Amino acid sequence: ESVKPAHFIRQIISKDLEAGKNGGRVATRFPPEPNGYLHVGHAKSICLNFSMGEEFGGTCNLRFDDTNPEKESQEYIEAIQRDVSWLGFQWNGEIRYASGYFDQLHDFAVELIKQGKAYVDESTPEEIRTMRGSLTEAGQDSPYRSRSVDDNLQQFERMRNGEFADGAAVLRAKIDMASPNINMRDPVLYRVRRAHHHQTGDKWCIYPMYDYTHCVSDALEEITHSLCTLEFEDHRPLYDWVLDQLDVPCHPQQIEFARLNLNYTITSKRKLKQLVDEQHVDGWDDPRMPTIAGLRRRGYTPASIRNFCEMIGVTKSEGVVDMSMLEFSIRDDLDKSAPRAMCVMQPLKVVIENWQQEEQPLSIAAHPKDESLGVREIFFGKELYIDRTDFEEEPPKGFKRLIPGGEVRLRGAYVIRCDEVIKNEQGEVVELRCSYDDQTLGKNPEGRKVKGVVHWVSAAKALPVEVRLYDRLFNHESPDAAKDGSSFLDHINPDSLTVVERAYAEPSLANARADQPYQFEREGYFVLDGVDSSEGKLVFNRTVTLRDAWAK
Ligand code: ATP
Ligand code: MG
Ligand code: MG
Repeated sequence: ESVKPAHFIRQIISKDLEAGKNGGRVATRFPPEPNGYLHVGHAKSICLNFSMGEEFGGTCNLRFDDTNPEKESQEYIEAIQRDVSWLGFQWNGEIRYASGYFDQLHDFAVELIKQGKAYVDESTPEEIRTMRGSLTEAGQDSPYRSRSVDDNLQQFERMRNGEFADGAAVLRAKIDMASPNINMRDPVLYRVRRAHHHQTGDKWCIYPMYDYTHCVSDALEEITHSLCTLEFEDHRPLYDWVLDQLDVPCHPQQIEFARLNLNYTITSKRKLKQLVDEQHVDGWDDPRMPTIAGLRRRGYTPASIRNFCEMIGVTKSEGVVDMSMLEFSIRDDLDKSAPRAMCVMQPLKVVIENWQQEEQPLSIAAHPKDESLGVREIFFGKELYIDRTDFEEEPPKGFKRLIPGGEVRLRGAYVIRCDEVIKNEQGEVVELRCSYDDQTLGKNPEGRKVKGVVHWVSAAKALPVEVRLYDRLFNHESPDAAKDGSSFLDHINPDSLTVVERAYAEPSLANARADQPYQFEREGYFVLDGVDSSEGKLVFNRTVTLRDAWAK
């Protein structure tokens, strides 16, 4: 068990508990908008919210913040649930929907009108934007600001009944047009929008705004600590104002933390959606995507993502996390847990001339340090494949693998010697004639040292497989914020996918599953692609290389 660092949110919650705040209760929530798939940034928020619930013996709700029906869908709702569960978290009771509170939100809005704290504004959206001013420009009162309570009640009722065209009227809170915080300059609470809602159907033609919905939803669910990202810091006065006006069961404390930014990728659902819609990638779960679905298909484990989130910590200051930290966390997990297997990417045929028998089955440990993972069966025989890069006719200095007349050990099998090099008409090496030393199975040869060990497969028993090698999706450190005014689309790495159409894998991989990563010895970590594999055609995705190829 690692010692969890006492980040500032842990400290706040601990103090609140010591002080007996909220009756000793901790309740958090993760509130995604179902307008896309979750990405690694959301994982940070998920880990934070659910782990605070768990660690303090409390609860964490999963709530869909579904106030923009046109951008949302059931597909996203299901994908989000799948991803949260896969990460290993369990939400408290039923799934919640902000739309489940539409009746209460409406009644609270009527209550605000009755208190003289909200009014119907029939100005155009453009006029309202102008009247709210800017950081340097004061706000101006709307001509509708002084409407009577009765008039407002009537007009709001008309909004609800569909008597205004979309955009023709809004309900605004009456707060302070002179506030230095623009969020407090009479923000919009409700708008008219004739849109079918995935949960409430055609019941409503007015929809509440995020800021109004969020705080009320938190309060109705009796959330104690409402954790959100820093961009909502300026919205906190509004969060508190709304709850101060209303008779709600609880007034949650909003606490902001820095969002996760990862270099060489983007963490914005809108932009990720653009990559999908414009087919720059092969769907939300493309293994190059920083989505949870993409990471899963790529071979990331839930533990690696949770450890990554713990490692990057929770602070108030924005920074950019290096992609190599995410890669470190998956290597760290898989080094310990992934069974080993052999797969030859660039096959070079090796004929063992002094081998006269049938294929010989050999038993080899699935993991060098963990016996509990058992053994696998490989086959030695007359025809083998090794990787083309493991043979050099004219070896550079220090080359420890196979050379003409030289010896190398085949992992888990014998030492072989290269006796003859066969070339085609173009002078390319197409085959090696070798001999094996039958005294070297699991033993060093007598009287000489063989340093190199290479991976290999039996040609007769190998499975032909497709292997997909991924590189970073972007070749710019901050594709989103390049200083030259370029778009993130200008920085897509054209070489982010290399397909090896025919690699040869050891036969034990016939039973590979999409949720069981392997280390392909000397090549990296790989997992079966659960989408494109079929019985006749296995496809493997490279999760990550063995070492950080980007480290200088
Ligand atoms: P995006 O900009 O990608 O659409 P969002 O904040 O609009 O993100 P939501 O669905 O509203 O997406 O996010 C749900 C929760 O996840 C929010 O509490 C949000 O603050 C948090 N979250 C989103 N992105 C990040 C991130 N990069 N790092 C940490 N938390 C995040
Ligand atoms: Mg949001
Ligand atoms: Mg968003």
